[in-house]
Amino acid sequence: MSNEYQYVLELFREDNTPVGRAEIIVDWEPAEEWAKFAALRSGLLSDGETARVLSIDPVWHREVGEPLLDGFRVNLAINGSRGAATDFTTDYFHRLALQASTAFIEKGRLAKGENIHYVAAAFPQKEIEQPEASGLQFTVEEVAPVLNIIESSLGLFMENSDLMGEARKEDAPVFIPRQVFEEASAITRQAGAKETGGILIGHLRRDREAGEIFLEVTAQIPARDAEADLTSLKFTPEVWTEVRAAIELRRRGEIMLGWWHSHPVREWCRECPVERQQKCAMASEFFSAHDRHLHRTIFPGAHSIALVANDTATDEVTFSAFGWRRGAVEPRGVYIVR
Ligand SMILES: [Zn+2]
Repeated sequence: MSNEYQYVLELFREDNTPVGRAEIIVDWEPAEEWAKFAALRSGLLSDGETARVLSIDPVWHREVGEPLLDGFRVNLAINGSRGAATDFTTDYFHRLALQASTAFIEKGRLAKGENIHYVAAAFPQKEIEQPEASGLQFTVEEVAPVLNIIESSLGLFMENSDLMGEARKEDAPVFIPRQVFEEASAITRQAGAKETGGILIGHLRRDREAGEIFLEVTAQIPARDAEADLTSLKFTPEVWTEVRAAIELRRRGEIMLGWWHSHPVREWCRECPVERQQKCAMASEFFSAHDRHLHRTIFPGAHSIALVANDTATDEVTFSAFGWRRGAVEPRGVYIVR
């Protein structure tokens, strides 16, 4: 894969005075995964074919031109011959811009709470000297795992389910049985002050007529051996062994589609009055930096999803769903199967 550019962000205050420039190290994998999944969804990539990332190229600013960016393009080679490309906007660098602004605040060059905006640019990398080749040479071929996709009717799934949250065209539909929510609620309440969670398993399905790929979650496997405290959760190797064993026992050819975990908001906000707890930013659609890191590490695939069980001071546990959209983890809608 070739990427011959150094990407930088120029930060500006609200009144357009410059704050400074930050060289960024971009994590391209979520974008690459999104591009591969987009090729699969659009039918450019058929089942059993492989997609390899050829290059990531700057998309220069329409008016100003090089070195300013409108975004970047991920170029794929499908089965080693045909090409496919997906474009991303500079929104992809949003989190890096936040990190850069934190660094400028620490250096005293930016006041806390000041609004910033950013412009992205790219410059050709200086020639990097290649280490002298040793006797052994390896060719690393990045090959996308072949996903087993089952032909199914999307309409049939739609008929038997209710939407939770917002349905967006960019998101592949996700169906989750009511029972999974009920089980996760019960486990969440049992865990009390500790975070708890599990792995979501199921199938990838394709409706050729509708031209869409969708996910069917069939079950959740509780992560009994996960290490957890009040604010974070870690999946230990024992958890993966248990999930693999469960999948084998069920004999339905399921794959891991994502994970769920609880937020004991009642405990986090113990000191707050109930009314404020319910309006708290952590009470719904909250995905912490740790959650993001975990999702990026264990579920980088663009179809992967995460559910959060919000245990607030109300009668029922509520749920928020998250997934990859254009390489970023965002709140998303899911369908609850009746
Ligand atoms: Zn969390």
